[in-house]
Amino acid sequence: MGGGRAVACAAMAPPSDPPRYDPQSFEERWVATWEREGAHAAPEHPDPRRKRYVLEMFPYPSGDMHMGHVENYSIADAIARQWTMLGHDVLHPMGYDAFGLPAENAAISRGVHPKEWTFANIERMRRSQMRLGFSYDWDRQVISADPAYYRWNQWIFLKLLERGLAYRKTAPVNWCPVDKTVLANEQISAGVCWRCGSVPEVRDLAQWFLKITDYAARLLDDMDILDWPDQVLVQQRNWIGRSRGAEVTFEVVPTRPTGSKLPPVSYPVFTTRPDTLWGATFFLLAPEHPFAAELVAGTEYEAPFTKFLAEVRSQTEVERMSSERVRHGMALPAVAVNPVNGDEIPVWTADYVLSHYGTGAVMAVPAHDQRDFEFARTHAIPIRVVVEPEVPEELDPDTMTAPYLGPGVLVHSGPFTGTVVFPDTGVGIDKVIAWLEAEGKGKGSVNYRLRDWLMSRQRYWGTPIPIIYCPIHGEVPVPEEALPVLLPDQADYTPTDDAVGPLANATEWVNTVCPRCGGPARRETDTMDTFFDSSWYFLRFCDPHIETAPFTPEAVTAWCPVDQYVGGIEHAVMHLIYARFFAKAFQDMGMLSFPEPFLRLFNQGSISMGGKAMSKSRGNVVEASAAAERYGADSARLFILFCSPPGAAYDFPADGLEEIGRVAFSWLSRVWRVLSDTAPDPAGPVPQELQRAVHKTVKAVTDDFETFSFNTAIARLMELLNAFSKAGGPVPRPAAETFLKLLAPVAPFITEELWHGYGNEGSIHKQSWPTYDEALLAAEHAVMVIQINGKVRDTVEVPVGITSEEMQEIALDREKIAAVLDGKAPTKIVTVPPRLVNLVVP
Ligand SMILES: [Zn+2]
Ligand SMILES: [Zn+2]
Repeated sequence: MGGGRAVACAAMAPPSDPPRYDPQSFEERWVATWEREGAHAAPEHPDPRRKRYVLEMFPYPSGDMHMGHVENYSIADAIARQWTMLGHDVLHPMGYDAFGLPAENAAISRGVHPKEWTFANIERMRRSQMRLGFSYDWDRQVISADPAYYRWNQWIFLKLLERGLAYRKTAPVNWCPVDKTVLANEQISAGVCWRCGSVPEVRDLAQWFLKITDYAARLLDDMDILDWPDQVLVQQRNWIGRSRGAEVTFEVVPTRPTGSKLPPVSYPVFTTRPDTLWGATFFLLAPEHPFAAELVAGTEYEAPFTKFLAEVRSQTEVERMSSERVRHGMALPAVAVNPVNGDEIPVWTADYVLSHYGTGAVMAVPAHDQRDFEFARTHAIPIRVVVEPEVPEELDPDTMTAPYLGPGVLVHSGPFTGTVVFPDTGVGIDKVIAWLEAEGKGKGSVNYRLRDWLMSRQRYWGTPIPIIYCPIHGEVPVPEEALPVLLPDQADYTPTDDAVGPLANATEWVNTVCPRCGGPARRETDTMDTFFDSSWYFLRFCDPHIETAPFTPEAVTAWCPVDQYVGGIEHAVMHLIYARFFAKAFQDMGMLSFPEPFLRLFNQGSISMGGKAMSKSRGNVVEASAAAERYGADSARLFILFCSPPGAAYDFPADGLEEIGRVAFSWLSRVWRVLSDTAPDPAGPVPQELQRAVHKTVKAVTDDFETFSFNTAIARLMELLNAFSKAGGPVPRPAAETFLKLLAPVAPFITEELWHGYGNEGSIHKQSWPTYDEALLAAEHAVMVIQINGKVRDTVEVPVGITSEEMQEIALDREKIAAVLDGKAPTKIVTVPPRLVNLVVP
């Protein structure tokens, strides 16, 4: 329904009519009353059949809220409020993802401490959220930069370490030269740093990783139980990247022209296309593969290899894998023996082979692989076709301009010549795998694209990693009873270029003693990726004050998993993968009884202004507090839910604030005027036609809420308001109250004020959601029978109030009728509104 905006403009009315809608006169009063009465407190012991957990992704406190935040929170709040009215026990908490780079960067540029800056922002944001009337259980607020919270980050880290799910390793990692820290692969989007957009460098650094790869299969398989947008599921599936195939062992035999002797080595390689084994014409080792360096050591290959390796290492993985580049590489002094036919093929190294994909070695089949094809053409390596399309079509290795990737029949493939293969479904390929296993030449295997999560950062404003380095005992975990390791309140937190975190400057803090031997030792100076903090915060909300555990099984079992999660699509392969991993790891540790943290996910559309994301520095922001001050919180909330379907993008016009006035404030003014004038007798009869309009609206709005189509729900309420006006006179009280209940989740203040204005006790937000009478709705339509010469030819549903003329028109328009008439015009038409039309033809 795109017509929402037009309806709003049509609904505009002269603003001068009394009584005047003045949200400032009552909105803040209701904020205070709701807080005083604990109106949004979740019940201590929810009924397991009726519990509902509604959650927004916990925000980064960057300053005041803008309309993008308002959208996110208004959606979740409308859901939470309606679910409460439907009789559910609702948990709707709020907290702050308070550690991280932006706070630190802002603090550095302003000369304030990150802590001061962050906590001041939290206060502002929280005030705005309260002013807008979001129904958060504020008693459960969680702030990740609070030691009461981050001590549990450290505790969880130690548990992961105990289980072998956390480890430290020296590896080539992505270093952001601007943010001066390493990044996880998930935090590089389209080859650049997700925060600052600069191209990361590759550096060899000892870093902490979390073994998310252990969960790759479950992360994929459990997607079946998620009611999430397809777009997010597809992104996660691709990110995890499962490929099925076989591991086949090649023998690599050095053919060293100079230097010492080196024995042959057996190398397993992973391939998704074992059916093309007979087409392998060369063998590739990743440049970083230790065996590559061994092969060239002391030979004439050594110098060019060293140069090549340096070039490769200056590039990110994304660059190396890019499809728009020349494939670089060099021959190595070795041959590989193909186990299926004994062929000796040359061994090369190439930039597009990654050391951590599979075994860091691959068989190259240029006729049937894109990158191998490009490499073979660049380096004049022979190509051998082993799959031919079923429709006879000669693929000539000398002239083909692209590899053949489709299904076909195997040729020149030993015992499999003549076998039909379908690469997409694995048909035919499974036979080859079975044969490899029987012959002892290989085995079926699965490979993933997902890499372990690099979680250490060389920045100050984060959770200290609870590790101590002892010259004798190496990495020693901080004992549980010594947690939290407090972040020192140091003055110098400028990041450095040398990959040593600024915490290294906190000499007194860094120098400590080894928990094992009591000798001098040093603390880990890296902090945690803040995505660690957000991977489990939703569990803490169930039990926010407990001091002996991150959460208790009882509280978590009572509320989790989250029934409805609302947040941005940009977290598809970051937060949403990490949090799923944590839930599974916790389940394995016996801390949780369920594998998935968020059952349903809704991605709100992006909110922009002038085509660009709202940003204070660009000056294209509509701030929530400004909107509330000028037009009231209800106008801001209603506008953002009405301006576009909640899942679609919306771009504010240049005078964004005024647009809220034109659309939302003017309509709410009319609601105020029309519904202030109600028939005082609540038992007064509602005219039949109005009654139907009300029931129809209840049904439509209820349906719209189920699909979060708040814009159409509001449009229906606009229609109902028009019906009230059209009926003239005071609105019957029961009809007015139903209207207010339907509007309450979207505009909580005006509805509460009018509700109490009618003399009602208790909050409108605790009333039951209106129901409708199916029979009353059914009566609105009748089945019209269309006859030709007395014979029934068609039926159609029509409104009960239809006229004879309209009936004739509909009848003649029907396809079936036109077919029977076959161009003949009826000589006579008999109508019995609304049930019967009879066409008489000669
Ligand atoms: Zn960056
Ligand atoms: Zn020690």
